[in-house]
Amino acid sequence: MAFSFTITKRDRSSMARTGVIETPHGAIHTPAFVPVATKAALRGVSLAGAQAAGAEIFMMNTFHLFFQGQHRIISELGGLHTYAHTDLPLMTDSGGFQVFSLGFGREYGLGKLSEANNPGNALHYAAHPDPRHKNLVTITEDGVTFTLPENGNRLELTPESSMAVQRDLGADIIFAFDECTPPTASADYTAAAVERTHRWAKRSIAAASSHQALMGIVQGGDYVHLREHAARTIGAMDFFGFGIGGSFGNSFGDSKTSMYAIVEKVNAVLPEGKPRHLLGIGEVDDLIEAVQRGVDTFDCVIPTRWARHGTAMTAAGRVNIRAAKYLRDTAPLDAACVCAVCQTYSRAYLSHLSREKEIFGVMLLAEHNIHFILNLMERIRHATSTGTLSALKSEFAAYYK
Ligand SMILES: [Zn+2]
Repeated sequence: MAFSFTITKRDRSSMARTGVIETPHGAIHTPAFVPVATKAALRGVSLAGAQAAGAEIFMMNTFHLFFQGQHRIISELGGLHTYAHTDLPLMTDSGGFQVFSLGFGREYGLGKLSEANNPGNALHYAAHPDPRHKNLVTITEDGVTFTLPENGNRLELTPESSMAVQRDLGADIIFAFDECTPPTASADYTAAAVERTHRWAKRSIAAASSHQALMGIVQGGDYVHLREHAARTIGAMDFFGFGIGGSFGNSFGDSKTSMYAIVEKVNAVLPEGKPRHLLGIGEVDDLIEAVQRGVDTFDCVIPTRWARHGTAMTAAGRVNIRAAKYLRDTAPLDAACVCAVCQTYSRAYLSHLSREKEIFGVMLLAEHNIHFILNLMERIRHATSTGTLSALKSEFAAYYK
């Protein structure tokens, strides 16, 4: 078996565990953060640079490599590992999330109608079309068709075509095609979408390459009974591991509390011996809380996105380096960090570069942020294996919530 997952330690006071995912391109030590190289590149850091900082796997986004046909060129040229020149394990998502959200919203200038951070808005929009842009998304039993507003071109993604594109891309770990429902969806609609996602999961299993490890996705919005039903159903299918996707609502209070509660309930149902991935989550407090609830891997664009906006993740919380108070500050960005940026440059210089939107400034902040989050994961693994996760959580509690 080219792929395996071994749990090496369990935390006695939570659901946290350490483990190793073995792939044909090497091992991933969990809990792990998976930097997102959306279009086969991290924004501001080389894959080799992230690898040197401790990355053991990258996520690349199927939708972004598919909608202009780039996956065919990548396949012709030997797949993503050769194309992007990395020998680390890779993950690709199914493309579904972008179809339901970014596909219309952020990527195609419909920001007023669909916020990028709200994966459900596109679907809500599809259900209540603005007459100026109606029928951009059509969901059928077969799959999803969407129309590019700028040229009217239609693109279709189905479980079979998502598996075919992911086979062309050639990542080690791939995801089943699922439907992301909006937070505004009714229980009836979400229930129907969950059942459709389960039928798509079976079709994804039938269509996937046996040389790739396929992850099923648990949906169900903020409806706990649907999440548990989805975890039982997807958990019983022949997947290598599981992704937890979609929105979590506010039904347990605020959105973070709700996410933690739902993740805990889902992981209590999923098979204990298989890896669990929390899709698109990556703030410091979320990583620790989700690890305590049994999550093994995370992907998130935060380290590089925040770098573009002048925000650094540090041991003492977020730093907006563009603030004027840093313009004469000769201290390192994060005194607790051993990355090359913190060993070399002052806050004053980073502040100046970021205010001027210099590309080099984005690169330096991205390098630090990637280093910071990978180092944090290393500490989470150590704390999990030594029973000190609660202490680690307390250390960051004052700065990240
Ligand atoms: Zn640093």
